[in-house]
Amino acid sequence: MDAVKNMVPEYFGSNVFDDMTMRARLPKETYKAMIRTIRDGRSLDLTVANVVANAMKDWAIERGATHYTHWFQPMTGITAEKHDSFISPDETGRIIMEFSGKELVQGEPDASSFPSGGLRATCEARGYTAWDPTSYAFVKENVLCIPTAFCSFAGDALDKKTPLLRSMEALNRQAMRIIKLFGNEGVTSIKTTVGPEQEYFLIDREIYNKRPDLIFTGRTLFGSRAPKGQELDDHYFGTIKPRVAAFMKELDEELWKLGVYAKTEHNEGAPSQHELAPIFTTTNIAADHNQLTMELMQKLAKKHGMVCLLHEKPFAGVAGSGKHNNWSMSTNTGINLLNPGETPYENAQFLLYLCAVIKAVDEYQDLLRISVASAGNDHRLGAAEAPPAIVSMSLGDELTAILSALEKETAYSAQEKSLMRIGVHVLPKFPRDTTDRNRTSPFAFTGNKFEFRMLGSSESISDCNTVINTAVAESLSQFANVLEKASNFESVLHDLIVQTIRKHKRIIFNGNGYDEAWVKEAEKRGLLNLRSTPDAIPYLIADKNIELFRKHKVFTERELRARYEIYLETYSKVLNIEARTMVDMLYKDILPAISGYGKQLSDAIIQKKKALGDLPCLYETETLSTLSSLTDSIYRGVRELERAIADAKHNKDNFARAKAFEQDVLPKMKAIRSEVDRAERITSLDAWPYPTYADMLFGVRG
Ligand code: ADP
Ligand code: MG
Repeated sequence: MDAVKNMVPEYFGSNVFDDMTMRARLPKETYKAMIRTIRDGRSLDLTVANVVANAMKDWAIERGATHYTHWFQPMTGITAEKHDSFISPDETGRIIMEFSGKELVQGEPDASSFPSGGLRATCEARGYTAWDPTSYAFVKENVLCIPTAFCSFAGDALDKKTPLLRSMEALNRQAMRIIKLFGNEGVTSIKTTVGPEQEYFLIDREIYNKRPDLIFTGRTLFGSRAPKGQELDDHYFGTIKPRVAAFMKELDEELWKLGVYAKTEHNEGAPSQHELAPIFTTTNIAADHNQLTMELMQKLAKKHGMVCLLHEKPFAGVAGSGKHNNWSMSTNTGINLLNPGETPYENAQFLLYLCAVIKAVDEYQDLLRISVASAGNDHRLGAAEAPPAIVSMSLGDELTAILSALEKETAYSAQEKSLMRIGVHVLPKFPRDTTDRNRTSPFAFTGNKFEFRMLGSSESISDCNTVINTAVAESLSQFANVLEKASNFESVLHDLIVQTIRKHKRIIFNGNGYDEAWVKEAEKRGLLNLRSTPDAIPYLIADKNIELFRKHKVFTERELRARYEIYLETYSKVLNIEARTMVDMLYKDILPAISGYGKQLSDAIIQKKKALGDLPCLYETETLSTLSSLTDSIYRGVRELERAIADAKHNKDNFARAKAFEQDVLPKMKAIRSEVDRAERITSLDAWPYPTYADMLFGVRG
């Protein structure tokens, strides 16, 4: 078995109905029709779909599948599946295994239990799923999974995939207009590519099971810090413990079978924190793969006696987890449009695409911020460990100097005598490490791609890529409008680039994003600083944003307004669960534990005094008195918290409710936590009802 396991190329993609499998199993004409569908987005006619479905079913059954599901990504941010078996009765009363083209192409799950933001009136509870043939079907745990988009019967998107696919089309349309202006024979399509680096924590399962906060909310609501954190930097890239290594090995193997290019696995900065990075691929596939990765991480961790935490901030005082979204654009001929290239001509094309991104990030800072806004990620952004909540971009000193020379119409360096001119000069090489050094930048150019670093570890990558693609498509469409009319292409191109730099250079910042001074500087530059989710979400329905999405056919206004409601609703729901979990833990475990320990202490005082006479009993009396005043204030705090939860829920309007949770409930939770943590520090380990931070963070041994 191990010999087989070592043959990665043999089993890579073995559970995927990929190109090779289709070529081998489909009649030639059917295969060709499939390829046209995948490549050009043509719809598949039902007779062809029937042939594909049948071949898919036979292939899946050979891999142990008994069921199929339309696999989709509703607004919950995780994937959904409803399993149907292949069985169908025949005339004799026995069964046959069947799967039709109709079942492949379209499904009708009940949409009423998924968030719809009012798009789905209860009278039309049905929604439908439509096959996305550009992402291959696969077998997972005896189920044939068919990647699909999910819409209401009126055609409104109810998922995260539909807008992502629409945004990729928008970008393709506009980027193609530009590429044609530069010649580039043979380019027929441009796709965006993404490589998401995924961070996560692994903790011992027994320990996890004793923490209701982790079970119900994914993060610790209490817990005084362990004596050791990450200050020694001994975990990052450190040796991987055998139990974790065994988990990573199996994770790689399972992902490879599903055709996911899992590439790098290493320890991250915090104790028990790890990262997995795949090799980049087309964005919608990367999004599907990232969902599969998160799902498998959680499943396999359990198998290895651990739990995988994907929350953005499971532990206070310890770095949280993010997801770096590496993004670029690539032609069907394999040219990466963010690669500076070697010749003045390639450089000019690169600079134009680069400027499109700069303009997009500046004009749609608000949308980028919204695309990563969640209750969990609010704990991270701006906490001097992740990028700040202010969106800015870094280009590295060298590229910034070049843009500045262009803008100011000066020479780029002292050695260089002539003025920097597009189409004439060859750009110097940008060594990777000079562009990649700034780890604090939210949106960093890293040599041949951009790395968007604000994304939270549990978030779907679909939202932020929908925004990046659409905003860049808008820049490109404006550029194309100018350039298509130009009689002197080179000089108009030069001016366009110079004007874009002048207008949008405020978004470029190569310095330390964690610095307090940057917050002030950013304010001076007029950049947005949207600190919390409720602060950010209202910008989603700003006129300019409705117009952007409408123009590029990514969201209708109706769809956008629905999303506005869903994001705010989700935020309030998360905070409500957290606050109620807190109340529960306080009444059921924490207050009784502290009070019980107080009794132990007072018993000890009485016993001591009985035995030894009137001694001060300093430790016992002082601890007892501190704990009893803490108990009183914790108790007052929890009563106030209960009132605040009830008041917040009173708000009918989603924005007002989210604001109330943020401003009235959250600060009370923080205040209670700090008192409970103080109590934990001076209470005996035996009396404390939960595993400690030390147990959780250093509990995976051997
Ligand atoms: P880091 O130093 O951030 O770990 P890597 O070079 O390892 O940088 O790349 C990080 C991620 O970026 C990987 O997932 C990689 O596949 C991805 N990546 C590389 N090139 C591109 C590209 N052209 N488009 C999208 N992602 C890319
Ligand atoms: Mg990175």
